[in-house]
Amino acid sequence: MTAMLNIKDLRAYYGQVQALHGLSFSLNEGSLTTLLGANGAGKTTTLRAICNMVRSTGAIEFEGKPLSGKSTENVVRLGIAHVPQGRGTFTTMTVEENLQLGAITRNDKKGVVADIERMYEHFPVLKERHTQQAGTLSGGEQQMLAVARALMLRPRLMLLDEPSFGLAPLIVRELFKILGKINREDKVTILVVEQNAQLALELADKAYVIETGRIVMSGSAAEIANNEDVRKSYLGY
Ligand code: ATP
Repeated sequence: MTAMLNIKDLRAYYGQVQALHGLSFSLNEGSLTTLLGANGAGKTTTLRAICNMVRSTGAIEFEGKPLSGKSTENVVRLGIAHVPQGRGTFTTMTVEENLQLGAITRNDKKGVVADIERMYEHFPVLKERHTQQAGTLSGGEQQMLAVARALMLRPRLMLLDEPSFGLAPLIVRELFKILGKINREDKVTILVVEQNAQLALELADKAYVIETGRIVMSGSAAEIANNEDVRKSYLGY
């Protein structure tokens, strides 16, 4: 299988602080991959580096094209959507306005209307609340809106930073089920960064483990879930 995203020897810096130390991994088209790691391991920085939001060196190729030197906006235009930690919905706008804003770079009006309907199929609760201000939604609903808004770009690759953060386990399960459906049915390749290793490994087909800015383990999600070190360090049994 050809890799959709190829990252080689990625190093990233916040001023004098080096956060990534030669990280390499790849994503296959159509896959649902999780990047696991403890607090501060460099998960968020990896996603930020792909989107060119942090100073980095190394090679990142998306569908055969180098991303280095491209602005964040141009990375988005190539088909990469980023859902940052903390969701970032427009709280004073309605649910539907948020979805429309997600499609702001598109000019196929009919396609946009159809995609909003598709988002309401994936997330019926957003349909129920489509006239409600985003700021009045629960945490789980806001996370769903953030994902739906990112999908309005029709990305080929979606990067999700810690989608389970602050959500009740039942809500996380619901959200992850929908992510699986989006991956399979809408053919969106997904990279999800998670501290909740157990749920992420149930969702993903492939997993990488990151420690202090380097990939230290990779394999199928099942292999990683059965690895003794992973079980001790990340799964707690
Ligand atoms: P978390 O789950 O806590 O977000 P993470 O795995 O996503 O952890 P990063 O946020 O990528 O980790 O952080 C990687 C390293 O870079 C850490 O050592 C962190 O202290 C450092 N770092 C992150 N952001 C900054 C910043 N703005 N300025 C300086 N150092 C930073």
